[in-house]
Amino acid sequence: MLFDVRTAMFLAAFITLMLAVCLAATLNRQEPPVAGAVALWVRATALQPFAWLLLALRDYVPDVWSIVLGNALICFAYAEYPRALRLFTRGHAGSPLPHFVAGATLAPVAAFTWIWPSVAARTVATSLAILVLFALAVSALVRGTPRPLPRSHAITAAAFFVGALLLGVRAAFEGFTHTPLTSGTAVTPMQVLIFGYSALAPVLMTFGFVLMCNDRMRAELERLAATDPLTGVWNRRMLEQLVTSQLADARRHFRPVSALLIDADHFKLINDGFGHDVGDAALKALAADVRSHLRPGDLIGRLGGEEFLVVLAGAASAEAVAVAERLRESVAALAIDVHGIALKLSISIGVATLADTSHDFGALVRRADEAMYEAKRAGRNRVSLAMRPAGAVQAVTMAR
Ligand code: GH3
Ligand code: MG
Ligand code: MG
Repeated sequence: MLFDVRTAMFLAAFITLMLAVCLAATLNRQEPPVAGAVALWVRATALQPFAWLLLALRDYVPDVWSIVLGNALICFAYAEYPRALRLFTRGHAGSPLPHFVAGATLAPVAAFTWIWPSVAARTVATSLAILVLFALAVSALVRGTPRPLPRSHAITAAAFFVGALLLGVRAAFEGFTHTPLTSGTAVTPMQVLIFGYSALAPVLMTFGFVLMCNDRMRAELERLAATDPLTGVWNRRMLEQLVTSQLADARRHFRPVSALLIDADHFKLINDGFGHDVGDAALKALAADVRSHLRPGDLIGRLGGEEFLVVLAGAASAEAVAVAERLRESVAALAIDVHGIALKLSISIGVATLADTSHDFGALVRRADEAMYEAKRAGRNRVSLAMRPAGAVQAVTMAR
């Protein structure tokens, strides 16, 4: 057969060296925990050239170097994959189990080299150890990721799964065959499969991992483009998109939608009195407090300045006014402390309910805005409901 195990090992060494260099040079500017996962992945990849080189130098260097150190290095390299994937998917690298598995493999490798020399038994032991490490990698990927599994995760998981499958077949084959392997570099169909895949797998696995990093970066960019950096609520652009689809939904199902336009009262006084930073902290506290009262399907976004819009799906006027009243009371009762400065805030809220088919985002905001100004005119720290027809506004709450 035109296949040489040693050549495959040199190829694996060369490929993993190239991958490690490319990865370290390009994926080095990530945010945690992806940065940590990339560092572990680089370690997994960078250890492999040394391992493959030692394994390829069988019979040319002492056994302790080639067999024991070579196998130990390959196991410790593979042990970093499940740790990297766990750090990526769950934010922490998890238990030291992969390192333990890699370390524990040394005992049978040494025993089957010097005490009961057997290439086949050693092959079974290392295959099973690496099978466990690959299975841990698949588990870290699949269990730490919400369904449906993104394609990048599926590709990476598949690369490890196929590897684990081949190793399982190899362990069973070498364990039960009548013609046991007598040399680690012998060419048998099983050896061709295993070492062919060993040279190829780091490319597949790393390709999947780079796609995963790419997906994560894109999600982060999308989040940044959709949220207000100060308060973390949706920005106006995203809010308009979300509300527009919610309005279409509501129209289709004949369900009401209510919008609450929230404006902080006399906010300029806070900025003028304590500075912009304190104003910023107050806005953050205000948004967080309002957000804490909302249900999962409700939307909150910042329209600009000290104005926020809350949209309650399925809420008719009476319910929306009750929610607005709760928000108003909660903010009025809020004790905000910014670097020892105690602040009090109040908000005025205009409530508008989608009642006919002609409403779009702009119209809903306009009506809520008119109602909000009515609440301001009536003395602030109030809730006001926009009555139909549009434009006729009536303050329904005078609470203080
Ligand atoms: P009113 O009760 O009538 O709403 O009075 P107001 O002072 O809240 O209204 P006005 O529109 O006069 O002022 C709004 C202020 O909000 C002015 C602006 O400096 C401040 N503001 C807007 N955006 C931000 C921000 O991002 N951070 C800070 N700190 N202040 C902001
Ligand atoms: Mg305003
Ligand atoms: Mg204001």
